[in-house]
Amino acid sequence: MDSKTFDEKYRDRLMKLSTTNLSDALDKVGIPGAVIGIRPMYDCPRIVGRAVTIKITAAGMLKSKHHLGVHAIDAAGAGDIIVIDNRGDLKNNCWGEILSMGAKVKGVSGVVVDGAARDIDMCKEFEFPVYARGTVPITARGRIMQESFNEVIRVGDIQLRPGDIVMADINGVVIIPVEKLDEVLEDKCEWCGKPCEETILFNFGGCEFHEVCAACEVRLRRGNYISYALILAFFIAGVLAWST
Ligand SMILES: [Zn+2]
Repeated sequence: MDSKTFDEKYRDRLMKLSTTNLSDALDKVGIPGAVIGIRPMYDCPRIVGRAVTIKITAAGMLKSKHHLGVHAIDAAGAGDIIVIDNRGDLKNNCWGEILSMGAKVKGVSGVVVDGAARDIDMCKEFEFPVYARGTVPITARGRIMQESFNEVIRVGDIQLRPGDIVMADINGVVIIPVEKLDEVLEDKCEWCGKPCEETILFNFGGCEFHEVCAACEVRLRRGNYISYALILAFFIAGVLAWST
């Protein structure tokens, strides 16, 4: 899916939801998508977008021809999210201030690092969202290098292909395979079974909650009011009958 289609059809709908909503929807569809343990590195906003991927490996005899991240920033479009697979490594930072600035200039929504980042204070200052497992101050130079970009990577226990949809917020990170996006967004009403954009938790009285669509909520609420009115009417009639 190109970025124009994503922005026009999906961006606003997704931004109204949270990673918890999407994780629940993924469960219903039966696809694993929640990534455990990656968190916002400061109070950064929710981000959603198409993934541009980077895979990191250890530095060694084989030298990388290109600086880490530069290709990915180059390939990223406005609204995309750069996602880095450094297999949860907390000792080596693989994203910092200079890359953040470059990505911000390109309009990238943010970065998600399965590993560590640095320069969080600077990223916060120029408002570039950074999600990672932790921070370390040391440089990546001579320690790690880019193995590939825009190839399939692993984020936590989840497979991520370039172009899949990523959301990150205060609750964590969720990955949606791009061809499953419609299915994930098509929440069905428990009452009428129709697909609905937004389900509302409806309480039938007591502790029983159901996810229903807005139309059913209105109908069911009206039904509840009629029941209450009938109970009240019988009560008043009873009191009147007893007192006369
Ligand atoms: Zn309904």
